Amino acid sequence: MSCPICGKAADAKYRPFCSRRCADVDLGRWLTGSYAIPAEQVEEGDLPAADSTGDDAPDDLRKRPN
Ligand SMILES: [Zn+2]
Repeated sequence: MSCPICGKAADAKYRPFCSRRCADVDLGRWLTGSYAIPAEQVEEGDLPAADSTGDDAPDDLRKRPN
């Protein structure tokens, strides 16, 4: 098996990559690629979450014994 990033022999520790660097490169590509596609969907789903976070702040203040 050879590293899909640079083609060197893969290290058992980082299979199928030859080193952590190449594994990071692949992960970076994967994250960058997947981030770009669902970005708009995430934005919509984020709205209710941001709302409940805003609710938490005043609730936290009310919990104070004074
Ligand atoms: Zn490599």
